[in-house]
Amino acid sequence: MNKKEIFIEELKKIIGSADFDLWFRPSVFDFSQEEENSIITIITPYVYIQDNIKTKFLNKMKDLYDGLFHKKIWFDFKVERKKDNLELELEQPAPTYELTKTNEGDSVDGFKNSVLNPKYTFENFIVGDSNQFARAAAWAVATNPGKQFNPLFIYGGSGLGKTHLMQAIGHYVIKNFPKLKVLYITSEEFTNKFINALTQKKTHIFREKFHQIDLLLIDDIQFLIGKEQTQEVFFHTFNSLHSSGRQLVISSDKPPKDLLSFEDRLKNRMEWGLQADIQPPRFETRLAILKQQNEQLNANINIEVLEFIAEHFTSDVRELEGAFNKVFAFSHTYTEINLSVCRNIFKDIIEDKKIVKNVSIKKIIKTVCKYYNIDYDLIMSNKRDQPITFARQLAMYLCKEISDYPYKFIGKEFNKDHSTVIHSFKKIQEMLNTDTGLLENINLIKKNILNDNDFDFE
Ligand code: ADP
Ligand code: MG
Repeated sequence: MNKKEIFIEELKKIIGSADFDLWFRPSVFDFSQEEENSIITIITPYVYIQDNIKTKFLNKMKDLYDGLFHKKIWFDFKVERKKDNLELELEQPAPTYELTKTNEGDSVDGFKNSVLNPKYTFENFIVGDSNQFARAAAWAVATNPGKQFNPLFIYGGSGLGKTHLMQAIGHYVIKNFPKLKVLYITSEEFTNKFINALTQKKTHIFREKFHQIDLLLIDDIQFLIGKEQTQEVFFHTFNSLHSSGRQLVISSDKPPKDLLSFEDRLKNRMEWGLQADIQPPRFETRLAILKQQNEQLNANINIEVLEFIAEHFTSDVRELEGAFNKVFAFSHTYTEINLSVCRNIFKDIIEDKKIVKNVSIKKIIKTVCKYYNIDYDLIMSNKRDQPITFARQLAMYLCKEISDYPYKFIGKEFNKDHSTVIHSFKKIQEMLNTDTGLLENINLIKKNILNDNDFDFE
């Protein structure tokens, strides 16, 4: 083993594999300056991972290094979302069981476990940088329930995978810790059960049952807003479970501090453990989710169409899957779903962009060049001077806006990859929010592009 491997192995031993998986696995250790300059660089995908490593582990790491190699070392930190980080993340052993049934009915008397959706497993959860922290946190909890990170609080917008991740924890624990009593429940169901108990004067039984659970997964806690009495009961349930080392996982559409009408003491409790957010997935992740669906359903939808869907359904995985299912349904009637069939399917949903056929990307670039008086070669070069970069980004934006070519295709024309095009598109969109003059310029450029040619409109 080399020094890096030795160091990582020992670090894992000292801090435990749950902490290691959560904080270090998505990070990269760069030992390239270790010999010469006594510096180890740790590259983390997020600032908060870096902060956590610094406060919790920095001294331990220094001491460990000193102990192992009898030398002082400095740690340097960088934030970078490398592909390697994700790959490391994906290397985590995925549970290999097949889940055919849940332990419905046999856990808590009178409270049947809500049946978990068999699809919502870790294996089926596609990891991207928008959700990798939440996924790692969920994994840490599933493999060490009640030991660390209690409660785990997962939050994020609708349709981004919160329920999926929670149930993945449930599946994993049911399978690997069969003695533990697992309950997945939405906060609405929790409320209803409580109200029932109240009307039947059986609240003591209600309490007792809940207090026996080893893993309580409570979904969409924001529904308890305005329900003071249920919050009160939940508060006691929380305390009872937490103080006896049982695991709680809570989901919400917002972080605890923003659950405005929640009692402070309850908000405070929910902040005790670990909070992990899920953001809308990026293009690559959306595409990977579609590819997975395509495979699982044996749908044989071609890649161009998948890319089209991934480009147009950007904010919500549930919608993304819905769009895929719609295309899949059509694939039974059309012999082949190609791009134009696909456009047709969504023509009412996707805003009418007055897409121009046959306009060449070269034409768009040239018009932008003329407008801003910049050489064509400069735009096509790798020069990063501000005006050139801006013109390049604008040209990419217009290619998408006017012609709706796929990102990849545009990227190729510019000798860049699709992520650069996506970035440029977003950049200009952002600028448009604040800079009204820009909109006028864009409209003028568009006019120039269109006036010069007899393009067909779709
Ligand atoms: P939320 O609870 O956040 O509203 P869900 O967990 O219900 O969202 O997810 C909505 C749909 O999207 C589900 O079908 C889920 O399987 C799917 N989904 C979300 N994120 C992912 C992902 N990363 N990989 C695969 N499927 C996902
Ligand atoms: Mg949900």
